[in-house]
Amino acid sequence: MQELTPGAEREPALPAADERRLEELLEYVRKQAQTFVGYPCRGYFDYSRLFDFLYYPINNVGDPFAPCTYRVHTREVEREVLQWFAELNHIGEADYWGYVTNGGTEGNIYGLFLARELYPGGVVYYSEDTHYSVAKNLRVLNMRHIMIKSQPNGEIDYEDLYETMKIHRDVPPIIFANAGTTMTEAKDDITRIRAMLKDLAIPQSYIHVDAALCGMTLPFLDGAPVVDFRAGIDSISISGHKFIGCPFPCGIVLARKEYVNRIARSIEYVGTLDTTLTGSRNGVAALFLWYALRTIGKDGFRREVGECLEKAAYAVERFRVAGIEAWRNPHSITVVFERPPEEILERWQIAVQNRWGHIVVMPTITREKIDRLIEDIVRVREKGAGESRRVRPRA
Ligand SMILES: *Cc1c(COP(=O)(O)O)cnc(C)c1O
Repeated sequence: MQELTPGAEREPALPAADERRLEELLEYVRKQAQTFVGYPCRGYFDYSRLFDFLYYPINNVGDPFAPCTYRVHTREVEREVLQWFAELNHIGEADYWGYVTNGGTEGNIYGLFLARELYPGGVVYYSEDTHYSVAKNLRVLNMRHIMIKSQPNGEIDYEDLYETMKIHRDVPPIIFANAGTTMTEAKDDITRIRAMLKDLAIPQSYIHVDAALCGMTLPFLDGAPVVDFRAGIDSISISGHKFIGCPFPCGIVLARKEYVNRIARSIEYVGTLDTTLTGSRNGVAALFLWYALRTIGKDGFRREVGECLEKAAYAVERFRVAGIEAWRNPHSITVVFERPPEEILERWQIAVQNRWGHIVVMPTITREKIDRLIEDIVRVREKGAGESRRVRPRA
């Protein structure tokens, strides 16, 4: 039998032309990472300590808490990751269930799936500013849904939500709430929504929180809104490749355990429970997350989030000084500013929506980078203004 040891020569070798392609591709990725300011992802993180694990077919198939006949797995560290997030989100060890997902999107689908299994006749309410994937996934799940208006800052319009739920009081509401909308990082007020449900005397309801980004910022900020299980939520989804900075998409979903027990099915082929959405699951993701949580730690994240907020405040200030309209929501590392010229969008990979663009001030974004971006915008604008003056016809 061939020895399974790391470091053995690969045979056959990659053709020379393909070697060059790899070099070029790496160069391209390195270069793009230099001007990566528009998306909520940490730009760089050293996981090289873990590279030896990539020699093996690590797969956390099925339920992370159940035994499994597929033994090349990292379930133990996955459970530690989940426990870390359970503590962060204030749910007791006996009361939660969850798993490491392929990203925030999967966690959101999972939350909606649980809600639908609990309340098959329920209606999903979500704001206009909700992540684009949700509308599609509601179709996949074939759930009744009603879109609620957003306020200009991206937060759900509570009056519209209240009035709409009031009309449909006979069906259980399933609230898809945002803890950090994609564009403006607005947070829907969970405590206020819970109070509304009480006020309307609605006996059955479900709240899922999409905390793709803010699941890793709000818990580390004093005086920030509570979006976890203390506020009466039922499930939460957090991305692992955003603030934490895993180099490939992954995430965490947590839900109240009593709900999950209702959908669990035992599968003989893998000797485990089929409680997760996908069968095979990325065990390397669990390990990478564990490594980030262990090396940075709660204190490290607290410090980083604090610094990001300061840099975000700095960015707003610098934009304004440069004559560019800019703002941000409270406790947000997302800085929203006037939609810049196309040339800037391309060069800095900036996401836009209508009249706004944004940058997300992650730990890898420095004040110098913010300065360079703003200088670039000013330069391109001045150039544009100069050109339009020249082409203007004479009176
Ligand atoms: C990024 C994001 C998602 C999707 O998460 P992925 O981890 O990219 O799948 C969902 N909702 C919000 C608010 C996001 O910002």
